[in-house]
Amino acid sequence: MQTFDFDLFVIGGGSGGVRAARMAAQRGARVALAEAGAMGGTCVNVGCIPKKLYSYAAHYAESFEESHGFGWVGTAPQLDWELLKANRAREISRLNGVYLQLLDSAGVQTLRGWATLLDAHAIDVAGQRYTAQNILIATGGAPTIPDVPGRELVVTSDDMFDLNPFPKRLLVVGGGYIACEFASIFNGLGAQVTQVHRRDKLLTGFDDDVRRFLASEMSKTGVKLQLGAEVAAITQTAEGLRVDLKDGSQGPFVVDTVLYATGRRPNTRGLGLEDAGVAVNAHGAIEVNERYQSSVASLYALGDVTARLQLTPVALGEAMVVVDQLFGPAAGKAPRSMSYDFIPTAVFTHPNIGTVGYSEAEAREKFASISVYRSDFKALRHTLSNSTERTLMKLLVDDASDRVVGLHMVGPDAGEIVQGFAVAMKAGATKAVFDSTIGIHPTAAEEFVTMREPVKSPT
Ligand code: FAD
Repeated sequence: MQTFDFDLFVIGGGSGGVRAARMAAQRGARVALAEAGAMGGTCVNVGCIPKKLYSYAAHYAESFEESHGFGWVGTAPQLDWELLKANRAREISRLNGVYLQLLDSAGVQTLRGWATLLDAHAIDVAGQRYTAQNILIATGGAPTIPDVPGRELVVTSDDMFDLNPFPKRLLVVGGGYIACEFASIFNGLGAQVTQVHRRDKLLTGFDDDVRRFLASEMSKTGVKLQLGAEVAAITQTAEGLRVDLKDGSQGPFVVDTVLYATGRRPNTRGLGLEDAGVAVNAHGAIEVNERYQSSVASLYALGDVTARLQLTPVALGEAMVVVDQLFGPAAGKAPRSMSYDFIPTAVFTHPNIGTVGYSEAEAREKFASISVYRSDFKALRHTLSNSTERTLMKLLVDDASDRVVGLHMVGPDAGEIVQGFAVAMKAGATKAVFDSTIGIHPTAAEEFVTMREPVKSPT
């Protein structure tokens, strides 16, 4: 029988890779993990965590302003960008250490360096050859910049956390969640932000009401939205970066920084996939079956490199499934499976979006008849804050089963609120259950259990 150095070799120390390596080692497997960059991957270093920290920082601006209505007087403090960056860097490096420690204490051998597949059971890391019975590819993804004249002058989301100096004038290109979040965050931190998107609405794939409502709320906060517009070229001038749009009647803009947040690609280049015979799709993502097994039986892949739902909790969930399949479930537990239905998600724009289930357009396609409940209101806090911010809440109900199949919110703490409702929806909660639930008063969230009348003519 062939012997291998390891039972499992994980390539990539991000959300999915670290979780899989740790859990497999805890089941008694001999595990190695190779990471070429900082431990923790995208989420920890240039994604969810630093972004949320900056989003918190940005929210202070509106809090200072709103505090006047509540009797607080005096001038607002100023942002010290260098201090924010330093504090973020310190916290991220603490997390890098925590990840390493978790792997060490689980007994995972960590290898630093770029890993390349040599064949179905062999990997090279920094000139050293290792063998493993199973290999898990969890190499994530990276931002892409389209072929626009001046592309060498622009930055991606990876660069936004350490910009030097702070961009007083920022142009964000893109309309997905990453573009919207950075537009909101830098607007809150004090930049003049213009966001250019080639479609007529932000956030393709989200509920249309949410898309419209968010655009209106973001505009109120000061983000200048240019929808239906495309960048023609970026040029360096003495005053800054000049951005010309294809439609010459809009722009040009002169800004300090241009962020392109128009797409990401799976990290499959230079991985040796061809040598190992692993099939990728037209977008370069590794194709896997429902067991996360690639076209080569000993090679598994999960997370962003498979380019499905690109979220940290999804990569974590997939990792648990792979480990259960390869090494058995935890003692006394059934093997996990991964369901992609009713995955809640948040967008940390200002205000936040929280959403779970179908959009109205999707629900209309999927179900014969649906009822739509919608509420758009001014939160209690804003009766004194002077802010014109409004909150949107929306429920979609399948008439045949009375099940709530879509729940959407745009408003403060939407992510925090929607997480709890996602449990109810996963459990199949009906509108009758929502109606019989007593609200928590006074909160914004109670609106979700007090919407009695469906909208007459759905929008
Ligand atoms: P990653 O976390 O990307 O890890 C892959 C790792 O593999 C990297 O560390 C990389 O260095 C390493 N690697 C690649 N190739 C090799 C190689 N050949 N050898 C060795 N190492 C290699 N998700 C959320 O759920 N919520 C959010 O709020 C959120 N915000 C985000 C904000 C931004 C700006 C971005 C970019 C992403 C955000 N995401 C968010 C998505 C989330 O970060 C990803 O879905 C998640 O990190 C994917 O995990 P992964 O394990 O697939 O890959």
